[in-house]
Amino acid sequence: MTHYDYIFAGGGCAAFSLIHYLTKSSLKSKNILVIDPQGRSYPSKTWCYWAEKPLEIHPPNQLVQWNQLSFGRGKEKTLLKLKNLTYYHIQASDFFENLRLYFDQLPNIQFSESQVETCQTSSSGFEIITEKGEKFTCDYLFDSRLDTQIFQDGKKILKQQFVGWKIKLDQSFFDAESVTWMDIIPSENGNFSFGYILPYDAKHALVEFTCYSEEEIPYSLLEEKLKNYLSDQLDRISYNIYFEEKGRIPMSTQFKMNSPHPRWINLGTRAGWSRPSTGFTFQFIQEYCQQLVSELESSGTPTLKKMPSRHYFYDNILLNIVKKWPKQLDRLFVNLFTSNSPDHVLRFLQAKTGIWEEISILSKVQFYPFLKSLWHYEKH
Ligand SMILES: Cc1cc2nc3c(=O)[nH]c(=O)nc-3n(C[C@H](O)[C@H](O)[C@H](O)COP(=O)(O)OP(=O)(O)OC[C@H]3O[C@@H](n4cnc5c(N)ncnc54)[C@H](O)[C@@H]3O)c2cc1C
Repeated sequence: MTHYDYIFAGGGCAAFSLIHYLTKSSLKSKNILVIDPQGRSYPSKTWCYWAEKPLEIHPPNQLVQWNQLSFGRGKEKTLLKLKNLTYYHIQASDFFENLRLYFDQLPNIQFSESQVETCQTSSSGFEIITEKGEKFTCDYLFDSRLDTQIFQDGKKILKQQFVGWKIKLDQSFFDAESVTWMDIIPSENGNFSFGYILPYDAKHALVEFTCYSEEEIPYSLLEEKLKNYLSDQLDRISYNIYFEEKGRIPMSTQFKMNSPHPRWINLGTRAGWSRPSTGFTFQFIQEYCQQLVSELESSGTPTLKKMPSRHYFYDNILLNIVKKWPKQLDRLFVNLFTSNSPDHVLRFLQAKTGIWEEISILSKVQFYPFLKSLWHYEKH
């Protein structure tokens, strides 16, 4: 049975990010095994984040970026110009392949293309058994496995559910300068829904249909909604789909898997690093992985990574509205973005604002939905 310093159960965004930062630290010579069935068949995903400059982990020569966000409902659109922040885009396959090429040059990082079947504590740390029957032990276990079971354990939680297509049009249509961040779509069943468009040029874009719902919505239905949204947007312009992505991201301030041991460390969405109110995770992963590495270097016992607790309070206020009064969300979001500088709101969504900035942001929005939510406060 081979023993490793660090085993990663799951080799997705959080695992690759953490390994990247480990290789830049004093822990760079630790023996590492990454167990993930995906191998080099990387998932169809695009990740966006906002920052003043591209993050150090951003694949070089793959910069796609925007400085304008459009926000609205139907024909009412507001264009918001970012001042100091830029909205960046990463193709997950570029991210994984770029890091994998780098890891393959390092003799202390190994990969096993299999599924982790069991993980348990043992006298030598942790024992991991894969579906292929391989057995490994390690001192630290980094766990980012996430499967749909987590969404089906009896407790219903809100989920951001979406389907996106990269499409090519046969004539120019998109405004390549601005991302459609939220184009609110009236919904018959009360679920909050919106379109999201990342234009690459006048003829190419990723277009998504997103819906917030506790009930699991079949992807086939989300695809149908996306098709309807596209036909509303494009009128009669025809298109070809050349890439598809889909997902369900938990929107819950309570969502995190308990870790049975201080050296069994959950990462990524499994650890509750997806911001409950937005589903944005990529940048939290980068920030928390860097913190984890410095704690591993200094004390060897990392602490649980979380946003300041008041941000969970804000998220609960918003999720309460999502759940109980979804029809009020469109005005609330439009109001939040149009009454404040977009840079400020984005920093708020990234939990990077101070309390006075938060008071200033929230004092400019209509109070009634927030007061109602506060009166009926619940954790979601
Ligand atoms: C389509 C999509 C688009 C997204 N876009 C954005 C965005 O624009 N911005 C943003 O901030 N966030 C975005 N997110 C959210 C988030 O950033 C990503 O989901 C991110 O990949 C989360 O990283 P992770 O490491 O937690 O999970 P993952 O990257 O999903 O990694 C988990 C890994 O665990 C593996 N695994 C599961 N079970 C086992 C097992 N039993 N044994 C071994 N391995 C296992 C899986 O194969 C997978 O590789 C998006 C999510 C999706 C689904």
